[in-house]
Formats: sequence, structure tokens, C-alpha cells
Amino acid sequence: MEAQLKKIQHMLEKQCQLNQDLQKQNHDLKKQLEEKEGALQELQTRLDNIDCPSQQNSNEVPEVRQSRAAVIASEPIPVELEITANRVTKSASESAQIVKAICKNDFLSRLDEEQISMMVELMKVLDHFPGDNIITEGTEGNSMYIVAVGELRVTQAGRDLRNLTSGDVFGELAILYNCKRTASVKAITSVKLWCIERQTYRSIMTNNSKQKREQLMGFLKTACTLKALNDIQLSKIIDSMEEVKFQKKEVIVREGAEGNTFYIILKGEVLVTKNVSGQQKIIRKMGEGEHFGELALIREIRRTATCTAVGAVTCFSIDKEVFEETIPIESLELHDDSDHLEDIKKPEEVGTNTSLMLKDLVPVLYQEGRYQGEPVTLGVGGFGRVELVTTLHHRKYFAMKKVIKKHIVSKRQEGHILLEKRILLAIRCDFIVRLHAAFKDSRYIYMIMEFCSGGEIWTKLKEVGRFEENIAVFVTACVVEGYAYLHKKGILYRDLKPENLMMDTKGYVKLVDFGFAKELSRGGKTYSFCGTPEYMSPEIIQNQGHDFAADFWSLGILIYELLVGSPPFSSSEPQKIYAKILDGVVNYPTYLGEGAKSLISKLCRSRPGQRLGNTKNGIKDVRHHRWFNSINWHQLRMGQLEAPTIRLIRKGPCYINFDRFPYDKTQAEEEFSGWDRDF
Ligand code: ATP
Ligand code: MG
Repeated sequence: MEAQLKKIQHMLEKQCQLNQDLQKQNHDLKKQLEEKEGALQELQTRLDNIDCPSQQNSNEVPEVRQSRAAVIASEPIPVELEITANRVTKSASESAQIVKAICKNDFLSRLDEEQISMMVELMKVLDHFPGDNIITEGTEGNSMYIVAVGELRVTQAGRDLRNLTSGDVFGELAILYNCKRTASVKAITSVKLWCIERQTYRSIMTNNSKQKREQLMGFLKTACTLKALNDIQLSKIIDSMEEVKFQKKEVIVREGAEGNTFYIILKGEVLVTKNVSGQQKIIRKMGEGEHFGELALIREIRRTATCTAVGAVTCFSIDKEVFEETIPIESLELHDDSDHLEDIKKPEEVGTNTSLMLKDLVPVLYQEGRYQGEPVTLGVGGFGRVELVTTLHHRKYFAMKKVIKKHIVSKRQEGHILLEKRILLAIRCDFIVRLHAAFKDSRYIYMIMEFCSGGEIWTKLKEVGRFEENIAVFVTACVVEGYAYLHKKGILYRDLKPENLMMDTKGYVKLVDFGFAKELSRGGKTYSFCGTPEYMSPEIIQNQGHDFAADFWSLGILIYELLVGSPPFSSSEPQKIYAKILDGVVNYPTYLGEGAKSLISKLCRSRPGQRLGNTKNGIKDVRHHRWFNSINWHQLRMGQLEAPTIRLIRKGPCYINFDRFPYDKTQAEEEFSGWDRDF
């Protein structure tokens, strides 16, 4: 009897085990199916976009972003080019044809007048014969083209897409950054093309922006009211100013009217007149670089004269309220009360960095499922893979980022990776992933990081579609603390997105991936084109130079994506994303709360100087926004707040909160150029 019972028990146990295994397999299959469905949906959207481009209705609520965003790594800016040396003379009708083509294009038409006219001057002519390949799908592009004469055919994967004729633009993304062509273009007839290379475009745009800033700085220095301000403060004012245009004979300010705006003339002439015994008396004419209305910035005044545009006039202007937000700058610093952040040092959990050796690290293996027995891969990024490792000695988990050196060299990212390591090693902040050690061999760079076991915010967001407000508030608050620490240290993050936010066991959020971080002095600007298209600020897209304000822009985008499930400016075609960003029109779904809308719109202001966080009280203004009313910032910093995100974290094997990836057994090629000597 007992033997029989044992037998039955044994059978039951076996059946249970079998059931469990089947359940797991089921789960894995379901996951695979979901992944496939996601991919299918993406392909469908792409197809829809090819078949019926620009059917976007401005009122539509963005669809959910299914795929991880692509990143754009900047390249070094070429040596300074002289615009005069690159100018190509064109007839009036040729120039008109180019301008017309630019104005028809979604993205290019959003560039400012000056940028467009510079492009017109720089375009070179190219002649091609029938059958010539101008662009080959899959290759990296360097130039953008406009068809002057002739006809060309666009194909994708062997499928005819459309024909191009005189006035059509193609390959325009290549002027922004190094990207793979998504279609081929072949000449059908003899063709004449206008063409511009990215290196020329970028270096001219950048130099032009720099010169323009210097010139504006010079103009501002002649304003008495602003005499006491230093260059950093003046630079801030420039970031807050906006371009305004006036037509011939338009009155810009009227004598006797209440004044609250200061103007600098960028282009054109302004006539100053005064009423003397009922007659308009001409006082003087002002031209480029001169300014008027400065008193309006500091005092309630009535205008003492009338200023009228003689012809078309372009001014740069700032009004009192914006000025007050920007200056006085005793507190202009981007950061404030987070000093004590640096003092909160947790006891070292794993001894010192030096105690950790590459040879002591062993891979953690999947315990079950499709990849059972293979090493756990936590994530796959643009430059390598992140694997889960442990030490036999401490039995502690680490995330090991393994970057292929050859890849780094071919993408010219040596500087970025050296900086990533240097910056991360110096950081001690609970809202930023810790780097415990870094190693290299002939094939890879290894970064041994704290393991964030809660998984990516991206994965969790995709699971639930969109976050409830309290979760979004908490996630964002953690990012704000990470930003406060970084900005105080003079470090720009530049890669905010749900994919780069990870949770620890408590549900606290940390910034990972410092591949685009940059050290920047106060008042300085940097000119590289990098980041994730959906999260890029208008000044990055336009090569105007950017600073800490770009991080606040992306904070606004993040809040939106967390609450809606997709960023506000999205499309499967990057140039459409850029066009939307430059337009700056955010459509808020009706379910978004007032507080969130208010904060997003203040962070996503197109002028960097006007963005919350970059205004005179710095990041304090962000913390004090009503959307964060429920956050006790002190408790958050001390790790004493209960994280609502804890609900998102699954319990189980240590890799349960991560997508699963097959192990990549191939060994990367060796690389010996020596760039990593100091790594
Ligand atoms: P990108 O393409 O974003 O530049 P990358 O190659 O720089 O990627 P990371 O973004 O640093 O790599 O990491 C890739 C992925 O690995 C992350 O999205 C995440 O899923 C996982 N990961 C990174 N760091 C950690 C960590 N400390 N703990 C757990 N998982 C991590
Ligand atoms: Mg990343």
C-alpha cells in the first residue's frame, strides 16, 4: 500500500513538474508571439508610411512606440570651413528652384531663412548619365540632393517606390548625421543634381551659429542696462530671446504705450519718431546691431518714442517676464540645494574597485526556458551587450557591459567611451548607475556596473502601455535628482529615454548609459549632433549649439512618453520627427492632467533659455512644480520614500525583469590601434 502511495506521489510530482515546464514553455512562446506581433506592427506602419506619406493629422494622438529608439552618435565636427570657399555661384532661377524645393520638403522647410539661404549658396552641381546609381540602399550617406533636371527612380528592396523629377529632394537625412540609406536612387535619364555634403553643411551651420552668438553678445554689451552682466549671463539672455519679423511701415513700439519688450535689430532699419506739438518728428534711424526698449526690462515704463520698420525688419527680442525668469543671476546656476547629495555615501558594498578582477567574474546562466544553460544577456545596445555576471567570492551580481573595440573605432566613438568611463567612475549618486570597475582586452572594453535588477522602465512601460500618474511622477523625480547631481558637476546627460532608465530592487530609478554624456562649463555650448531623434531638442537639430537646457527638453519628452506610452513627436521617418520637433506643437490626449500638461509645456519650450530648469532658479523650479506636489524630495534622496514602481517589479530568478536574448558566441575581431591606452 505504502509503496503504491509512494508511486502515485512520485507520478503526481512528475506530472506537476511537467505541467510547470509546459507553463514556462507556454510563457516563452507567448513572449515570442508578442515580439513577432510588435515587429509585424512596425513593418505595417512603415509600409503605411511608404504608401501614403504625410497623412498625419495634427489632432491625432500618437500611436504607441513599439520599437526601441535608434541612437545617433555624433562625429567630430570637421575643420572650420570658409563659406566663401565653398560658395557656388548660381543664377536667380537656379537659386529660386532650390529654395522652392526646400520649401516643399517637410524637414528642410522648417530651417530658418538664413540656414536655407546658406544651403542655397553651398549646393554644388553634379551631372549623371542614365543608369547611374546615385544612392545605394544600405550604404552610408554623406550628401543630400535636389533634382535640377531629369528623372530618377527610387527603389526599396527591389520594389519601385516612385520617380523623382525636377524640384524633388532626396537623401536629406544625410546632412544631419551618418545614416544608412533606406532606398536606392538611379538615374533614368541624364540628370543634373544639386548636392550638398554633411561635413560642409554641419561645419558651416555650426560656425555660423557661433559667429551669430558672438555678434549678438557684442550687441548686448552695448546696452547700458546690461552692463553689469558677465558673458555667461548674457549668453543666457541670448538663449531666451526670440526672432520677430516686422513688415515695411509696421509700428514696433508706439510712443505712450506700455512697454515690456527689448529689441535688437538683426536686419533692416527702424525709424525713431516723437510727437512734438502734434507733429511726428524724426529723431534718428537705427540699423543692424542697435537696440531699443531696454528700460522696459527693468521698469514699468511708457514708450518715449515710436519705432517703425522702414522696410522689412528682423529683430531679436525678449520681454520683461522672460527676462525676469532668466536674470538676476546670483542664482543663475543650473543647480542649487543638492550639495548634500554628494555627502550621502553608502558603505561600499563590494569592497574597492581594485578588488574586482575580470577573471573572477563568471556568467550567470538562464535556469529555464528557451535559452536554458546559456549566459544571461540583460540588454543589447548600439555598441555592445550587457551580460549578467557574478563573483564566486562575493556571490554578488553585476551587469557587465561588453563593447566591441572594432565597432568603437569604426564609428569613431573612442572619445565617447573614454569619457563614459571617466564620468561614471567619478559619480556617486543613488540615481545614477555605479561603475565598479573597467577592463579591456584585445577585443572588448568591459564595464562592470551595479546590477539594476528591477529592469528597464522601457520594458515596464511596454507591458502596461502607459503609466499611472503616481508612477510617472516618481520615475521623473528620480531623473530630476540624477540631473541635479550631474548638472552640478557640469555634466550633460543627453540620452534620456525609458530605455536608459533602470530600477533597483526597491523600484528606485537610475540613469544608465553615459555614452553621450559631456562635460560642459557654465555658459558654454557644445555642437555635436547626437541623441535619440524623438528626444532631441530643436537647437540640436539645427546645429545651433546646446547646453543643459537640452536635458530639460528631453525631460519634458520623457514625462509625455511615460504618461501616454509614446513620445509627442514621433514617426517612422526621422525627418518627420525633426519637422515636428521644430514645429513644437504638442498634442495632449484628453486624459492628461493639467499639472502634467503645464510641466511638459514649460520644459518643452523651443527657446532653451525659457525652459523650466534652465531659468534663474535652476532645477528648483522643476522640483517646485505642482506636478511633483506628492514628492517629498528629501525623503526621496534618503531612499525613504516607498516607490510606487515596486508594483512593476516581478519576483523570481534574478533576470526575470529583463527581456531574454540569445547568447552571442561569436568573438569580435581584435583591435590594436591603441586608442584605449588610458582606459
Ligand atoms: P545604446 O544603444 O542605448 O547606446 P549601449 O550599448 O550604450 O546602448 P546601454 O544602454 O548602457 O548600452 O545598455 C544596454 C541595455 O543593457 C540597457 O538598455 C539595459 O537593458 C541593460 N543594462 C545596462 N546597464 C545595466 C545595469 N546596470 N543593470 C542591468 N541592466 C543593464
Ligand atoms: Mg542605452
